[in-house]
Amino acid sequence: MNDLQKRSWAEIRLPHIRHNYEAIRATLPEGCRFMGIVKADAYGHGALPVARLLQDAGADYLGVSCLDEALELRQGGIHMPILILGHTPYEYTGELISHDITQTVSALAKAREYAAAAEALGKRLKVHIKLDTGMSRLGFLCAGSYFDTGVENVLRSCLLPALEPEGIYTHFAVADESDADSQAYTRAQFDLFCRVTEAVRQRGGVSFPLRHCANSGAVIHQPDMALDMVRPGLLLYGYGDQDRPLGLRPGMRLVTTVSTIKFYEPGTCISYGRRFTTDRRTRMGVLAIGYADGLPRLCSNQCSFAVPGGFAPQRGNICMDMCMADLSELPQVDVGSEVELFGDRCDIYKLAQAAQTIPYELLCSVSKRVPRVYIEA
Ligand SMILES: *Cc1c(COP(=O)(O)O)cnc(C)c1O
Repeated sequence: MNDLQKRSWAEIRLPHIRHNYEAIRATLPEGCRFMGIVKADAYGHGALPVARLLQDAGADYLGVSCLDEALELRQGGIHMPILILGHTPYEYTGELISHDITQTVSALAKAREYAAAAEALGKRLKVHIKLDTGMSRLGFLCAGSYFDTGVENVLRSCLLPALEPEGIYTHFAVADESDADSQAYTRAQFDLFCRVTEAVRQRGGVSFPLRHCANSGAVIHQPDMALDMVRPGLLLYGYGDQDRPLGLRPGMRLVTTVSTIKFYEPGTCISYGRRFTTDRRTRMGVLAIGYADGLPRLCSNQCSFAVPGGFAPQRGNICMDMCMADLSELPQVDVGSEVELFGDRCDIYKLAQAAQTIPYELLCSVSKRVPRVYIEA
């Protein structure tokens, strides 16, 4: 980063991500593979640096959301297997094959389109079958009365000669919630997944080398659901083990700086909308970060940030490029002082709560205006 432009930045601690990878890996059963989820620019941490780290560390697979994300990795020299978790229009089957990218297949109609496109090229497309066991998003319907048609459609897809079915998976809706009802729901999803997979094997003789369903929540709460591969995202970036059984470390620190400091008399309105008025003589700092950088406006007047010597309460509506914070009790803070929004001293879960969201959204929202500063060691 150019020091002259020192404004706001996201410090990305690659050794922490590597530590998290190894801590997760250490909990897995013998032989279980590891798909690192690096969609959405690796949850804001930078897809290429994180993918290089995972490739180097010995991860088995990468998971991305779409073709553009997969191509970014291939163009950056990532040669390990990549699975696209979302939809790719069949017109891009040639790109998938030529870059050796594995595609999710979530319905028979799509399987037929991919197969026709691959066949026209005289090639085969590597696919993972996705089952909808209760997330009600992408995937072959197989719950309740859909069981038999689900099994049938999976089989028909797998028997298309231009498709190479390497894996089968499902996604959990509430694996990260520890209450009994949620855990039972996850257990039911898992059981349905196993029953469909078994029926596909018995009825059609198709079995899959890679059966996978465990996201971060399941890695923590349901270690017996690891099967052949796990798919953690959030854990890699240092969150999602709130009781800290794994001792994960935050991958990102979001930092800004104090641009200016002024004293206001009592009764002074702060920022747009006059949503905060000083009730005493106040030493107010202007911070060089706003909602265009990824600090949600919903946090206005609801959060505090870590500064030298303590925590500064944020005051008034958060603007596009700036926000204000009360420094009255914090004489060590000066123009240029660093302010941490989340990372080591400020818990991302607190900020997420203030923004009525989850850490995932805060991480993904750190915008491209915020330079990523990579800490290598
Ligand atoms: C995003 C995603 C994951 C990773 O989820 P985390 O909760 O971050 O571990 C795993 N599988 C699929 C299909 C996903 O879309």
